Amino acid sequence: NLSGKTVLITGSTSGIGLGIAQVFARTGANIILNGFGDVELAKAKVAQGNKIPGYHGADLSDEEQIRDMMYYANQEFGGVDILINNAGIQHVSAVDSFPVDKWNAVIAINLSSVFHTSRLALPNMQKRHWGRIINIASVHGLVASKNKSAYVAAKHGVIGLTKSIALETARTNITCNAICPGWVLTPLVQQQIDQRIAEGANSEEAVKELLEEKQPSGQFVTPQQIGELALFLCSESANQVRGVAWNMDGGWVAQ
Ligand code: NAD
Repeated sequence: NLSGKTVLITGSTSGIGLGIAQVFARTGANIILNGFGDVELAKAKVAQGNKIPGYHGADLSDEEQIRDMMYYANQEFGGVDILINNAGIQHVSAVDSFPVDKWNAVIAINLSSVFHTSRLALPNMQKRHWGRIINIASVHGLVASKNKSAYVAAKHGVIGLTKSIALETARTNITCNAICPGWVLTPLVQQQIDQRIAEGANSEEAVKELLEEKQPSGQFVTPQQIGELALFLCSESANQVRGVAWNMDGGWVAQ
């Protein structure tokens, strides 16, 4: 039961973030959403599990807007107890042709934003002697794939940052961990399936090939399953889970 706690989930208008928000809404916690696109639909889906969530539209590539979002969380909800850093983007291209602006955007959104939200959330957690920081990294924080250099670099960085924060908070009731999903069928992955379809595969083949290349189970991980793992990391049973990178990947990294 997390009633009375406030959970900020970045990038929660779609995909994994929205799934996590729906799982946490059922606990009675206050939810703050963030992200672009159909905000009203996301709010409505989360409100089904609980009360109407808060929302801040900060663009996480911009440090000033992150500060505004954390200020909003303090003003409206008295601070963030559970910070779930989930927002992320992908760009697929070889290093020698990787657009520099895409590199900068991936590093800013997938890595630097995690530093900014965490540094701004920690003082409140320290004051309340309790907190959880959960970073949605990726199997690409543990192993690489070709043509995803910025993403792989950022996600390896997120796991390093997770460990640093876990050590700095080790003597407190604040924990910091990462979750490393394999393939989850979200708009981010659908784009990569569409790319294969554009290259000549039919849609069934495209999905089958994508899974078979990497994910031994042959099945997608679901946003709901990731939400349930995040919820476990918020429980008292998880007090000594600190600084881990916990994969949920249908066996991807076991190979
Ligand atoms: P998605 O594209 O469905 O959702 C991304 C969310 O981030 C959206 O709400 C979007 O509006 C938001 N967002 C994007 N740029 C933003 C910005 N600049 N500022 C604020 N919000 C922004 O993607 P997803 O697949 O749900 O991915 C969520 C996270 O999970 C990402 O960090 C991704 O790297 C990670 N992940 C995804 C998979 C997968 O297979 N889908 C696997 C491993 C890790």
